[in-house]
Amino acid sequence: MQQQDSITKSSEYLRQTIPLLTKHGLRPTPVNYAVIYHYIASESQALNEIIDNTISEKKDFSENLMADLYEKYINGGHALGKQEQVQQGLEKVIHNTSGEIQHVNEDTHNFDESLTKHAEKLTTVSDPDVTAMILQQILQDTRAMAKSTQEAQQRMEASNKEIEKMKVELQSVKATAEKDALTGLKNRGTFDTYVNEVVHEKNGDGTHHLLMLDIDHFKRINDSFGHLVGDRVIRYVSALMKQIFGEDQHIARYGGEEFAVILHNKTMDQTFELAEKVRIAMGNSKLQRKDSGETIGKVTLSAGVSLLKTGDTVDGFIDRADKALYSAKETGRNKVVLPK
Ligand code: GH3
Ligand code: MG
Ligand code: MG
Repeated sequence: MQQQDSITKSSEYLRQTIPLLTKHGLRPTPVNYAVIYHYIASESQALNEIIDNTISEKKDFSENLMADLYEKYINGGHALGKQEQVQQGLEKVIHNTSGEIQHVNEDTHNFDESLTKHAEKLTTVSDPDVTAMILQQILQDTRAMAKSTQEAQQRMEASNKEIEKMKVELQSVKATAEKDALTGLKNRGTFDTYVNEVVHEKNGDGTHHLLMLDIDHFKRINDSFGHLVGDRVIRYVSALMKQIFGEDQHIARYGGEEFAVILHNKTMDQTFELAEKVRIAMGNSKLQRKDSGETIGKVTLSAGVSLLKTGDTVDGFIDRADKALYSAKETGRNKVVLPK
């Protein structure tokens, strides 16, 4: 029944996709098709907002825009599928290897049995011809065993190589799955896991902070210059954050144009100073459109900070930073607000 439901739904999405492509002058390429299908199926709120804005503002759906939306909202989710593939491959190799070990065990057991039998026979015969024949059999069995062991070893070596290859692949898939496709920062899922660890493992010694940072009036940038320029601004802010906080810090893209950073071993003053550095650097940046050189105008940031308390909860820790960020927005934006 569930499957029937999903087939009915998919057919309905399919019926709506083609007319929408035609309406907006889009060629029915796989990329365009996938983007519009996802839009109709409402699989990503951010994707739908961008498409809705483009439609309502009667802007063009360029091939570039579609390719970009595809990369970001559809292809970005492929990492997990790949991870499953590697996982399955690994299971297969493990299955084959354990089969191989069993095979070798059986061979060894049979060889052992046949040697025992030959040895028993040897003690009872006195005819040199029979003895010679038994020795010949022992020699044959030994050669066969050596050959089978050598083959097994070669197969095991091949399996090992396969496992090594998959380990490397798995690492790269894991790294991709942990990152945000647009900025290369940690993604929301990775951040959620980390913040959970921090809240449960660290204590309220006054050195662990959370910073929530949001681009001011970002919608205006999208509305005036298009979402591709908006994306570049998001990338610019991420680069600035990496530069000021350090590449290996826990900086995440928390949502569309919102970022979260966990800082350790810092006082509140130091955290504030770092956030101010990012805010000031952003305010002083003179952003221009790459294509026309047209100025984008001043882009500012607001941020809120929270401090980890003993016995804190994840929600509490995030909520306090959120409230501080909200207060920064409410009181004029372009500022960093510390917790009350
Ligand atoms: P505020 O100063 O209060 O934060 O205002 P704002 O306009 O920045 O905030 P608002 O939440 O109203 O708008 C955020 C916009 O960001 C809406 C959404 O379409 C856009 N957005 C979300 N994700 C992306 C993205 O990945 N790329 C682009 N270009 N825009 C995005
Ligand atoms: Mg904003
Ligand atoms: Mg926001």
